[in-house]
Amino acid sequence: MSTTSNAVHFRDVNIIDSTGAQPYRGDVLVTDGRIRQVGHVDATPEGARTINGRGRTLMSGLCDAHTHFTWNNSADLDGLGTLPVEEHLLFALESARTYLDSGYTMCLGAASAKDRLDVVCRDAIAAGRFPGPRYLANGPEIAVTGGALVKGITKFADGPEGMRRVVRELVDIGVDQIKLSMTGEEITGSKHAEDTYFSDEEVAAAVTEAHRRGRRVCAHARSAESVKMCLRHKVDIIYHASYTDAEGLDLLEANRDWVFVAPGLNWLVATLYEAEAFGFPQEAAEAVGYKRELDAAISGLKEMHRRGVKILPGGDYGFAWTPHGTYARDLQHFVELLDFTPMEAIIAATAWGGEIMLQPDELGKVQPGYLADLIVVDGDPLEDITILQDPSKMDFVMKDGRFHKEPEDEAFRPPAPSDAADILHDEAAETVLQRP
Ligand SMILES: [Zn+2]
Repeated sequence: MSTTSNAVHFRDVNIIDSTGAQPYRGDVLVTDGRIRQVGHVDATPEGARTINGRGRTLMSGLCDAHTHFTWNNSADLDGLGTLPVEEHLLFALESARTYLDSGYTMCLGAASAKDRLDVVCRDAIAAGRFPGPRYLANGPEIAVTGGALVKGITKFADGPEGMRRVVRELVDIGVDQIKLSMTGEEITGSKHAEDTYFSDEEVAAAVTEAHRRGRRVCAHARSAESVKMCLRHKVDIIYHASYTDAEGLDLLEANRDWVFVAPGLNWLVATLYEAEAFGFPQEAAEAVGYKRELDAAISGLKEMHRRGVKILPGGDYGFAWTPHGTYARDLQHFVELLDFTPMEAIIAATAWGGEIMLQPDELGKVQPGYLADLIVVDGDPLEDITILQDPSKMDFVMKDGRFHKEPEDEAFRPPAPSDAADILHDEAAETVLQRP
């Protein structure tokens, strides 16, 4: 399905460039894996493939800031620990492909169910052996004794020395970042969202050791205390941040230049409203506090957004009620629940994705010199953000200038609705897709 032609001229696309500029109609030229010209293309290079976009939207590939390739679409959390590693690796590679199928070209690993699954997937993708997004790999999450959400997928450490040892062990197997599981999670039935299990000394030791080795730290942090602890000790990426108090919001604002928050909103929404078929009806979810938590999260995140804190979509896809492939639901929640404009949600999922992936100058924008990680969508996500969830609208997915996904037969596809009027005047209608 993928082609290796190294020059592609996208003609007549609606360009959302993720710089904050309004979208505009124009052309984009890709050669040798990078975007070369945007808006106006001087000349189509010899042998280039030309794609007539007919007003379809061209934008950066998306980023999921809290990815678990190893979550296996099950309702059985303990099963993540007992699934044999061979089957688990296959599942993780399938997840990686699903992300790319869905238009996600950047993913940041938020914990691996077994030691090396993330690292091995990252390397296989980077070597071109399996399709998947650019990936920053994690290891198993670190918890203190008595603080694990799922024991079978956890590394245990206690005290500063224990933290240093496990961080060193994970750096040694090749992880890009370290995950601390600092608070509970109500679905466990015993570990509460507002319980904080780590001590300041433990967080400080883990972060210092990781940073000393050039690795970042992310944290499962639902309680107000854990969010403040993250900021006090420079945890780079705060996951969830459901409960924040006034002091925490001030700290977030004061540190907004470097900290990223990725709430994983769809997990809360789906666990509250959509898990009944899997044995967790809404009444049960409300009884343990998920409604209260979602309400608190929405009000805290809106305040963070007002204060200019970078909040990124993505999170905890890969459970039965949050299956792989539904990732762009997070963007819809950002618009509907957090009052992001569709443009703000797209910038959070693209330009800020490039930042959290540590390649802000070459990922996440449609700009000359950027890597050619692009999607072409049949429709306008600024008018309807939910079209990013529809695989049938995700016409083209390109990574590194190569097509991962493209329509089976472009010539037989109907024109985009906005072009229906001038189709009669399009003399190239019979050769919409010109292959070299
Ligand atoms: Zn997670």
